[in-house]
Amino acid sequence: MEADVFVAWFEAAARMVHDERDRLTRLDAAIGDADHGTNLDRGLTEVRAALDGSPPETPGQVLATAGATLIRRVGGASGPLYGSVFRQMAKSLESPVTLAGFAAAFEDGVVALERLGKAVPGDKTMVDALTPASRALALAVRDGVGVREAFRQAARAAEEGAKATIPMQARKGRASYLGERSVGHEDPGAASAALFMAALASVVA
Ligand code: ADP
Ligand code: MG
Ligand code: MG
Repeated sequence: MEADVFVAWFEAAARMVHDERDRLTRLDAAIGDADHGTNLDRGLTEVRAALDGSPPETPGQVLATAGATLIRRVGGASGPLYGSVFRQMAKSLESPVTLAGFAAAFEDGVVALERLGKAVPGDKTMVDALTPASRALALAVRDGVGVREAFRQAARAAEEGAKATIPMQARKGRASYLGERSVGHEDPGAASAALFMAALASVVA
């Protein structure tokens, strides 16, 4: 996997988040402050602009640029959290990037996210989509699955993880202020994390 695949990943994510912006914002309206769709749409538009302006030469540079831009431009909890995932991935990734290397860097990214946000699986956050995706990638590596199928399985795991947040009670972020009233709604950050993984699957399809 070369830098162009990573640029394509963020371009696809920007497109998908833009298309799903209203759904993400509706989810956030139910248990948060109704800005998740606009937050991420703005952030990813900025990421695209940054990548267009000076196309990075390595996957690590793409991830570092995306992470820094999301931290700087997304007003809201999700910017620094996503930013931490991509910045850690940038640090961990060794070139040339193999599926095993990607999976290991992704796992490091999720660990960095958990360290920053102090959320664990079951807290009804983006962690509930990203952790199963990371596990799916690790299993795909173990089983010798090809990149395309591995990313498809990760996307499916993230989507299932996002849906599994519906019956959960939020213990982190704004939604946690609602207590039991957070039950019955999909977490917006988990939904957007599933879009990130769907975007990844789409670029190697
Ligand atoms: P804000 O809540 O500041 O308005 P967003 O609406 O952009 O930010 O993002 C909300 C999402 O961020 C939540 O749906 C959740 O998935 C995620 N989130 C919030 N706090 C945490 C945390 N401590 N750890 C992990 N994810 C979190
Ligand atoms: Mg919000
Ligand atoms: Mg907000």
